[in-house]
Amino acid sequence: MLRSNLDRGKQTIVVNTHHHWEHIWGNWGFRDCDIVAQEGLPKLAREKWDLTLETNRKYVRGEVALVLPTILVAGSISFEDDGIPLFSSKGHSDDSLSVFCRDGGFLIAGENIGDSDEAMVPSLASCVEDYRKTLDTYAGLAPRTILSGHNRAVDRRYLDKIKAALAKAEHSSPDAGGLDRKERLF
Ligand SMILES: [Zn+2]
Repeated sequence: MLRSNLDRGKQTIVVNTHHHWEHIWGNWGFRDCDIVAQEGLPKLAREKWDLTLETNRKYVRGEVALVLPTILVAGSISFEDDGIPLFSSKGHSDDSLSVFCRDGGFLIAGENIGDSDEAMVPSLASCVEDYRKTLDTYAGLAPRTILSGHNRAVDRRYLDKIKAALAKAEHSSPDAGGLDRKERLF
């Protein structure tokens, strides 16, 4: 369905925001396209593929097989014709990659925005300092709208709310709703 809605006049490029299963299973449907990801993705995806496939087998529809990216980003790259920089953005995972569409001011932040207003700080596999840097980078772009994997669309003021929640969580234990740095496998 997604493919049938794409602009046929342009090359389709898929971006994987990180290696977690619900973000890379769809690669199979775009295996004839270029797929861009942060350089750390292939190793993490290979390591977790079998386990996450087994754990989430009930969600399989049709064929699912590991399709790895064709373009790896070390720091950042830009599709300049379209004014779309992609940049490494550690936090939720060490292989997180974000996309900023200058035209329209859309920031696609993967899962660096938590799943809900009640859990706006995502689970962090990277260190808190890296995540805070990522939030600063996001703020510096002055996005109009921030899109993420599981939450609603938010505006840039949400970044300040996350920072405040992060500071609060750093001073709480995980049992009391504080930071849980363990990566979720789902
Ligand atoms: Zn994730």
